[in-house]
Amino acid sequence: MKFMLKVVAFMLLGTTLAFAKPTIYILATGGTIAGSGSGELSTAYTSGTVTVDKLIAAVPQINEIATIKGEQISQIGSQEMNNEVWLKLAKRVNELLTSGKADGVVITHGTDTMEETAYFLNLVVKSDKPIVMVGAMRNSGSLSADGPLNLFNAVNVAISKDSVNKGVMVVMNDEIHAAREVTKTNTTGVETFKSPNAGKIGTVFYGNVKFYMAPLRKHTASSEFDITKITELPRVDILYSHANDNADFANIAIKNGTKGIISAGMGNGNPFPTVLEALGEGVKKGVVVVRDSRVGSGETTLNGEVDDAKYGFLASDNLNAQKARVLLMLALTKTMDKAKIQELFLTH
Ligand code: GLU
Repeated sequence: MKFMLKVVAFMLLGTTLAFAKPTIYILATGGTIAGSGSGELSTAYTSGTVTVDKLIAAVPQINEIATIKGEQISQIGSQEMNNEVWLKLAKRVNELLTSGKADGVVITHGTDTMEETAYFLNLVVKSDKPIVMVGAMRNSGSLSADGPLNLFNAVNVAISKDSVNKGVMVVMNDEIHAAREVTKTNTTGVETFKSPNAGKIGTVFYGNVKFYMAPLRKHTASSEFDITKITELPRVDILYSHANDNADFANIAIKNGTKGIISAGMGNGNPFPTVLEALGEGVKKGVVVVRDSRVGSGETTLNGEVDDAKYGFLASDNLNAQKARVLLMLALTKTMDKAKIQELFLTH
């Protein structure tokens, strides 16, 4: 009799464990996915007006596959994203994943700066558990709103065992992109997110997750950055180059105490001649200058048409300017050694 009771208890425990759902935290920051407009066909709307509870309630199917917990981190359009929210978000994600409270995290976010937040988290979260960012191009009240299916897909990616150690991912429009590679390429289309240098790493079709590639650069648990004790980030500016440019913005940024400049130059990172000289003067004053390109794909190579060795410039590898800015900010929290910073650009 005692033996039989033990067998039944063991079977019950096994069944419970087999059906134990993963716990996924949905951290909401705002954006169009939480936006509401003045009608199903209206192009006017306000970001971040719908709360996390309402976002979750709109997709009841996610409760069948995971224990869902929601938290509101901020309620902003992502064009308002700032260092304070980044640090708050990163510290919360770290806490949830390393304490074991969460098996994965989904972050709802506006699409404008999603790639920057994704790369920031990719560099500072110390866990190999899934971290998925998701948004929408159509607000929640719009005809064919894309948010609900994107959120359903994001939770499915967050619970997939195949998502472990993929770094931070962006899930939109049935595609899975790696944080380092992904960028917004279209102002209004639902197919806006692309990874121009590497392609998407996977797909998710009505919750069916498939990976085809994995990111190789250092990320999350293997990244060299730690923001545990950091409360602010250094100023780094981006300068966008064009024909007949002038050095005014470079000079003002340097005069106003910027610590780093990402030069989004023409072609293979070429600034206009007067800007080139102004940036060189900035280096002499201690500003770290990283040459990047406004082109949108491809590598910015060291000592191409610009004599980087002479000016003391670094090169961004193939990061776009907004991501190079994130990496340089974090690099400057660690070191001013230019060789070390260049190394970080070649490994992260
Ligand atoms: N500007 C808004 C944001 O980034 C709208 C873009 C979006 O979420 O799709 O939050």
